[in-house]
Amino acid sequence: MTRRRWIAEHWDEATATIIGAQAEHMARVLRAQPGTEADVVAGGHVFHAQVVAVSPKEVRFNLVAELEADPALPVTLVLAIYKFDHMEWALEKATELGVAGIAPVIAKRTEKYLALAADKRAERWRRIVHESAQQSRRSDVPILYDPAPLSARVRAASAATRIVLAEQERTTTLRNALDEAIAASESEMPSLEIAIGPEGGWAPEEEALFDANGWRATSLGPRILRAETAAIAAMAVVASCLE
Ligand code: SAM
Repeated sequence: MTRRRWIAEHWDEATATIIGAQAEHMARVLRAQPGTEADVVAGGHVFHAQVVAVSPKEVRFNLVAELEADPALPVTLVLAIYKFDHMEWALEKATELGVAGIAPVIAKRTEKYLALAADKRAERWRRIVHESAQQSRRSDVPILYDPAPLSARVRAASAATRIVLAEQERTTTLRNALDEAIAASESEMPSLEIAIGPEGGWAPEEEALFDANGWRATSLGPRILRAETAAIAAMAVVASCLE
């Protein structure tokens, strides 16, 4: 039987601990006991583990043996902030598909009230990616960066191949851009940053900013996708190229 996987908050060489809602669930709902077996992720490594102490506040494990881990895809999604419920769906699914990081950014067409609420919402976004990583049996949790203005992210120095998804691009597909990045890369896995616009799309001055800072415009095909669909489709294309 597949063992439940937990992502530990604290660990040392031989033990690991989960706290808060995870511990409460394990203690009250799953009624874990000393001796219960589980997989535990500690510091990016996955272990076969055994419960040694249970309370609704804290569950402690002995780490028995290290298991093979599954590395994240080296891709950070730069996601313009838009309707929270749609965006959160994208966070969950991108995590399942192996994203390494998600950077929520405030774009020109991000609704003002969403931009104002984003800082507070980031805690919930971190919980969503944590739960999704656990549910999809990942060995790490994607980094959820603090919300920031789009221009700061676009201008920041980066060694990654930088791609902006733009529905009006007709020549270069995401697949073409990735094939070129892989051919040019000395390692098999080039790091990628992929930016996805809000519901209203990128403003012309944002397109110019991407262009001036070396981001390459790419297409996901002739149809206009919702931002969350674009995020999932981009992750699927990356996975098919890199895995
Ligand atoms: N500008 C559009 C409008 O309001 O008619 C739609 C923007 S679309 C809903 C949101 C974002 O998804 C875009 O900014 C782009 O990043 C991405 N996107 C959607 N369809 C795409 C496509 N076919 N190719 C590349 N990117 C796409």
